[in-house]
Amino acid sequence: MELFRAHVIDVDGDPLRGNGRLRALPDGALAVEQGIIMSVDDYDTLLHRHPGSHVHDHRGSFLLPGLIDVHVHFPQLPVIGAMGLPLLSWLNRRTFPAEARLNNAESARPAARSFLRRLAANGTTTALAFGSHIPQAQQVFFEEAAASGLRVCSGLSLGDRDLPEALLRDADTCYRESLELIKRWNGTEGIRYAVTPRFSVCCSEAVLDICGTLMRENEGLLFQTHINENRDEIDLVQRLFPWAEDYFATYERYGLTGSQCVYAHNLHAGEDELSRMASAGVAVAHCPSSNSFLGSGSFPMRQHLEYGIPFAAASDVGAGTGFSLFKEALAAYETQMLREDGVALDPAALLYLVTGAGAKLLGMDDLVGSLESGKQADFVLMSPPPQSTLAAVISEAGSSGQILGALITLAREESVAATWVAGREVYRR
Ligand SMILES: [Zn+2]
Repeated sequence: MELFRAHVIDVDGDPLRGNGRLRALPDGALAVEQGIIMSVDDYDTLLHRHPGSHVHDHRGSFLLPGLIDVHVHFPQLPVIGAMGLPLLSWLNRRTFPAEARLNNAESARPAARSFLRRLAANGTTTALAFGSHIPQAQQVFFEEAAASGLRVCSGLSLGDRDLPEALLRDADTCYRESLELIKRWNGTEGIRYAVTPRFSVCCSEAVLDICGTLMRENEGLLFQTHINENRDEIDLVQRLFPWAEDYFATYERYGLTGSQCVYAHNLHAGEDELSRMASAGVAVAHCPSSNSFLGSGSFPMRQHLEYGIPFAAASDVGAGTGFSLFKEALAAYETQMLREDGVALDPAALLYLVTGAGAKLLGMDDLVGSLESGKQADFVLMSPPPQSTLAAVISEAGSSGQILGALITLAREESVAATWVAGREVYRR
């Protein structure tokens, strides 16, 4: 048995919907055996229960559940900080050219390693990641994801129009290349395959149709795409699909519905569209820093709660401003503070947005998302640099809630000391 001793901070239940709360143990510990959390309690209690355990003493640091990023793009790390452009010109001028440069295994391997390393360095233990359009690059990404020890859901990005030549594939090729990667990777080595049409702008009906076919023909897949991010994008989708009553209809027609589907953004959905998304059981990835960075709009969180559409926070690197999910939680908080119909979010609700809510979206809430006995030992250790503003704020904090508020506001990469997945250390600063 191993005991990890620290100030343990977690969320019990779902505080976004009024049935959850902060759970903190200032001198607490996790008891871990064979990658599983056996118990969480005060350190003295656990030591008494498990005498002779190997103790990892992290007093003075904060131990939280591993963070879960439900929307991030593998090939987009170099695009972080590409300023001055709204979505469609940001894609055409900066992002597609950068993605097209990762066109073989040699260029993809260091990019994949760097991307996965940055996830772990930010305390992210599980990610739903958009892949490359190029199968050789995506194959390398899966190889490196398996080697990283992280939990990674991803898939080949698909599109047959409005993309640079290097990223284009016709529908038959999209189907064949996706199927090869599904057969090789889905359900192996911590990896789950996600069928990934880029967005309706880049996908003819034939491509959306083969996505529906792939989802029906293969068990246990996830689905991810974009929806209702930017007004110009929505107008373009309307012109490309004149029969569709709204953006969601372009996916709905091909059966891209159900709880395994994660739609990123959804800032400008109409009432009927929200109601159909709720009935279809799909979930939304909320990417607040990306939405501000591209000037796309702000997330109507209250509407999503009222319609009963599940959502979780995500980084959306490279339109997002970095890999830190604490930063995204802060951006989600600020977004709701600025909206007239904003939802009041406390530190527990914000931590839930980047942990338990994501686990639920990915159908992994029996495995990860909180520090409970029986779940996988996925956790992050936060240790603010001694001379930092964060350390100064925490030294004055009167409660675990205040400490969590300070971590969300100020803790970034430099405060992440180490990250574990299934009890195995995958990162140390
Ligand atoms: Zn995205």
